[in-house]
Amino acid sequence: MSDESRSAGPGLPIGPPDATRVPRYAGPDTFARLPRLQDVSRADVAILGVPFDSGVSYRPGARFGPQAIRAGSKLLRSYHPALDVEPWKVLQLADAGDVAVNPFDIEEAVAELQVAATALYEQVAKIVTIGGDHTIALPLLRAAYAQHGPISLVHFDAHLDTWDSYFGARYTHGTPFRRAAEEGILALDSSAHVGIRNYVYSPHDFSEDRRLGFAIVSTLDIARRGVDDAIDRVRDRVGEHPVYVSIDIDVLDPAHAPGTGTPEPGGLTTRELQLILHGLVGLNIVGADIVEVSPAYDHAELTSMAGAVAAFELLAMFAKAAS
Ligand code: MN
Ligand code: MN
Repeated sequence: MSDESRSAGPGLPIGPPDATRVPRYAGPDTFARLPRLQDVSRADVAILGVPFDSGVSYRPGARFGPQAIRAGSKLLRSYHPALDVEPWKVLQLADAGDVAVNPFDIEEAVAELQVAATALYEQVAKIVTIGGDHTIALPLLRAAYAQHGPISLVHFDAHLDTWDSYFGARYTHGTPFRRAAEEGILALDSSAHVGIRNYVYSPHDFSEDRRLGFAIVSTLDIARRGVDDAIDRVRDRVGEHPVYVSIDIDVLDPAHAPGTGTPEPGGLTTRELQLILHGLVGLNIVGADIVEVSPAYDHAELTSMAGAVAAFELLAMFAKAAS
């Protein structure tokens, strides 16, 4: 255990150092300065980094996303007023470090991450992954499926990510949910994309996505009907199933998240994403990821802080559901 980390008492979770004694820009370089997984006897939720971006179709750089999100997470504070919870007082949260995967062989990387995530689910109930490009969602979903059976996917993204292949490659950041659907690991009639917008290669992209069984709550739907309507539609869709929440940071407008691989103007605000997540408290979320943070395109840590906030919202949702 880091000698700077603190526990509120014997048997209680160990959290980050006291920010009134160790300023937030100092201390451990873990997510939110939480203890490392190897330094706690047990944990409820692990934060896992996956520095991988060999599956991108446009700008690279998300391999540096995990360290950027950890850096952006240093500003987080303990208490979440909207959910009235202090996540690291309710749950033992821990940073499981990064999984090193093959940068030159995507299928090998997918297999390596599946093994690592499956092993991690033997140790902790829930995993929040900080990526990495969206390719990594497939092995993470496979690991969640092995633990829980068919998974409802709530997928925040400007893009469908249900394309079949790029340049003959079947494992890319634009194809994970097509592969997951084909493999039967998604409960498709209770899965949804949220935040889809802008332009695709052809109308066929949408008809194919519908044929696979996904539903869409688009960015324009949210702009016209508001976040409460989006929450109702997602909750109606998901029901009681085990849920995996996948957040591509490009669901946010480039004004809020410029540091990403495939930016799309006209997106959600960070606040809209937060509000929708608050509305999903109580769903049986078993895993989540925040992907596509590419710090070389970022300014003033906007994107890495947005990624850190999204991860913290998920941790707070877990804590709220457990308290
Ligand atoms: Mn995207
Ligand atoms: Mn994506």
